[in-house]
Amino acid sequence: MKKKRISIFGATGSVGQNTLDLIGRDRQSYEIVVLSGGSNIDLLIKAALEFEPQVVVAATNDQLDELKNALSKTQVEVGIGRAALLESASRKCDLAFSAIVGAAGLEPGLIALENGADLALANKESMVAAGSLVKQKAIESKCNLIPVDSEHSAIFQALQGENVNAIERVILTASGGAFRDWPLDKIAQATPEQASTHPNWNMGQRITIDSASMFNKALEIIEAKELFSLSSEQIEVLVHPQSYVHAIVGFCDGGMMAHLGPPDMRHAIGYALNYPNRKTLQLENLDFAKIGSLTFMAPDKERFPAIGLAYEVMSLGGISGAVFNAAKETTLDGFLSKQIGFLEMCPIVEKTIVKLCHVENCHKLEANLINILDIDKMARNIAAELIRMQRS
Ligand code: NAD
Ligand code: MG
Repeated sequence: MKKKRISIFGATGSVGQNTLDLIGRDRQSYEIVVLSGGSNIDLLIKAALEFEPQVVVAATNDQLDELKNALSKTQVEVGIGRAALLESASRKCDLAFSAIVGAAGLEPGLIALENGADLALANKESMVAAGSLVKQKAIESKCNLIPVDSEHSAIFQALQGENVNAIERVILTASGGAFRDWPLDKIAQATPEQASTHPNWNMGQRITIDSASMFNKALEIIEAKELFSLSSEQIEVLVHPQSYVHAIVGFCDGGMMAHLGPPDMRHAIGYALNYPNRKTLQLENLDFAKIGSLTFMAPDKERFPAIGLAYEVMSLGGISGAVFNAAKETTLDGFLSKQIGFLEMCPIVEKTIVKLCHVENCHKLEANLINILDIDKMARNIAAELIRMQRS
């Protein structure tokens, strides 16, 4: 059987490592083309020695010697920096995992699509910042976009064999994150350490904090709109503390399809890895008798205003998602470096949207890569300035 050629952008992260875990259990089915990582050079070297990709790419120059030395007895090519990352994305593969965190993941995904790879999309920021562009590239190259985000994988799976025009609505579930039951005054004092623990999922730090602020769900609402071409009225969010139901699709005849599974990303990753087939993954099975009950509640939009911002961004349309995402990333950096408090993130994101979209109308520019990268930069500068003003 022909091996499936896989590239993984963000191989040292939580999604990347889970992907390699699955590939490692079924080595004869896959061949690795690219493994890229950021600053965790030890993990990148370990993965490169184990999987012997065509090329391995690290983020910064000071890692070059260490990487070259460690791989000197192998055939693995070594690349460093952004240009090497983008070049590696053009190498022929069957499926590219977009698992870099943040808008930095957009370009490798676009290049992989342009070069004929199906895209396993964990990087939700790509769809938020540039949904129409990503879809256009996929259509032009006749490639599949396969969601990896658990909720979107759930919707994608529920839609197999269905007509998307028959969708009445989709419901994204949310665990509620670390601060689901915290009073507002306590959330205001929350530290990055407290925000970095997730009740159910084991993920990278940034998405974990985004789960606590519900910015993650806000991004996912926009991601769902773009991936499945929905209107904003068709998308709902329900807090489901157990995280077993990942999403529900309601159809026009009143029937609903829910997708269930343990909170383990390897299910969604395995589905994308083997799409359109399914393979035995040997992961934990749900025991419903033990679970007993599943509960759902409406999200508290006052305590978690990020959800409201997602609807605001969808009504603005254009490239406002790029503004939203970039401002969100910048305020998250501000929170992580303790320049601003947890509850100060959302108002700064909102003010950035007001300035760039409501006042300057920048979101109406054509949705091409140059404009998206430009507006991303502008939003980061404005949000950074607002953070500075907040501190002075
Ligand atoms: P992570 O922080 O654990 O890993 C991110 C990866 O990207 C690492 O390999 C890191 O080195 C690399 N990286 C970061 N910045 C980079 C840059 N500027 N250039 C090149 N590489 C860079 O993140 P994660 O939790 O695995 O999430 C990855 C993506 O998947 C995010 O978009 C996230 O929203 C999405 N996602 C993650 C999960 C999860 O379970 N972790 C679930 C759903 C969706
Ligand atoms: Mg998700």
